[in-house]
Formats: sequence, structure tokens, C-alpha cells
Amino acid sequence: MKGQRELARARAVVIGLGALGSISSDLLARAGVGHLRLVDRDVVELTNLQRQSLYSESDVDRPKADAAAERLRSVNSQIEIEPLSKDVHSATVRGLLRDTDIVVDGTDNLETRFLLNETAMEANVPFVYGGAIATYGMAFAIRTPVTACFRCFNPKAPLPGSLPTCETAGIFNAASAMVGAIQAGEALRLLLGETPSGVLFVVDGWHPDIQRIHIGRRSDCPTCVQGEREYLGAKRTQVLASLCGSDTISLDPVHHGSIDMEAVADRLAALGSTRRAGGLLVADVEGRRLTIFPDGRALIRGVKDEAEARGVYAKYVGI
Ligand SMILES: [Zn+2]
Repeated sequence: MKGQRELARARAVVIGLGALGSISSDLLARAGVGHLRLVDRDVVELTNLQRQSLYSESDVDRPKADAAAERLRSVNSQIEIEPLSKDVHSATVRGLLRDTDIVVDGTDNLETRFLLNETAMEANVPFVYGGAIATYGMAFAIRTPVTACFRCFNPKAPLPGSLPTCETAGIFNAASAMVGAIQAGEALRLLLGETPSGVLFVVDGWHPDIQRIHIGRRSDCPTCVQGEREYLGAKRTQVLASLCGSDTISLDPVHHGSIDMEAVADRLAALGSTRRAGGLLVADVEGRRLTIFPDGRALIRGVKDEAEARGVYAKYVGI
């Protein structure tokens, strides 16, 4: 009962509600973590259902954060769940990680992980890294200075296009489920005051196996030793990021407040087919699908790169 009461008082943030975030947030909710903040910028796609266990066919096109919150509220009505349909970048990350006891990684790219690593370190809360691709994955509970940080074992960010992605390699759902479960277990242990193990778990989901690799801090780590905040300090201009598993790009323009959805809907209705889905506007225009959020953020499907996405946004929504 003592541990259960501690969990009821605990606050966790899960960033990214795909394969890993589905598993970890489900387990944290069932374990009774009292406050769960669920963050994802994306909407549910049919192909997500192969591995993203919080969603069903009726959730397609809904914001993942909303669908996940609804599902988890039906699992545990005794805890507080805060869904946020937001993009994570240097201008938003501190707000998304405020007032929490732990951060759980469900993201799909290294840049966001470097950013979360820096921000969690600044906030002095643990960051439970996880990643999965093809048939394998990794998990590591970070709490500096007790353990290495994410940068310690990823000293150089790889060049864009140099790593396999969900798009090119796919994800074996048993592998991502194993990684998500390890992350949830590590998060619960840390929330109950246990010391982090300093072990990187390397999961083979195909021939089920878990290797344990002890990771030490790098004496010259730019982030946890030298104190650089390369990602957190980045000046935000326009934040564009390619999404995993589709030809969709998320675009978060620089502005404050909400956009005039009616005016945008009227303009787009003249060019193609539009419909409203909850608070969102979905428009099919010239072979592209635009899903526009009230704060001006947009998902643009059917584009080949960020520049094209920026052009489509400028052309149809306006900056
Ligand atoms: Zn480090």
C-alpha cells in the first residue's frame, strides 16, 4: 500500500504515443500513476494499428493524444489524464515537461531525444529512453549524474537519412511491446525511489533475447559533463519534422494563439474537398491531405520533403 500511494502521488509524462508510448502509458495507467500527461502531435492512421495498441479502427484520423486519453480513462478512472496534441521542440519542451517526476520516451527520432535528454536534465527528473526498429530495440533509464545521459552513448547525431526508419524497415510489434514494457518497468522502479541500474537493455524481439550492457558516463560528454544545451538552446524558426510510417510532415508555424479555422475552411473548400473532424479541419487538395489544428499546426500528407510541405502550407493555409 505504501508504494501504491507513492504511485498515486506521482506524475509522469509520456512523449509520443506510438508503439512504445501505447505500451508504456497503458502499463503506467494500470499501475496507478496518479497523473499522466500524454503528448503526441499526430493523428491515428490505419497502418498504426499493427503495433499501437491503444487504438482501434474507429480512432483513425483522431488525434492520438485524445484517443489515448479516452482509452486510458476507461482503463483507470481513478487517475488524472492530460492529453496534449502538441509538437515537441525547443520552444515547447519546457512547458510539456513542467511539474513532472519522470519523462518516458515514445518518440521516433534522435533529435527529439537529444532535446528531451537536455530538458529532463535541466529539470532534474529521470528520462527513460526507448527505441525500436525492425525486430530489435533498446531501453535505458537515465538519471544524471548517477547514470550516463543519452548523449554519452550517442556522442554524435547521425546525418539525416543515415539510419533506417519505420518507413524503410518497419517494426515487429513483439519487439516494440518488449521495449515499451521495459520502459514502464524502469519508470515505475524510479518513481518508487529505486536507484537506476545504469544498464542499456538491448532487445531482440525475433529470437527473444535481452542483453544487458553497462554504460558509463563519458568524461567529455558535451551535455552532462560540459553542460552544453545544443538542442534546447536552438533558435526556433519554423519547426518541421518528417513523421514515421507515412509520407506526412508536421509543420508548426511561428505564431501565438489560434487561427481562423472558418476562413481557412472556406478558402480550401473552393480548391478541394474539406470536412471538419472534431476540432480539426481535414482538406484534400491537389493530391495532398492537410489536417489543420486550431493552433495553426498542420499535418501535410503526400509531400516528398520539408520544403514542399512548407510550400503547401504557405500556399493553402498561409503563414
Ligand atoms: Zn552525458
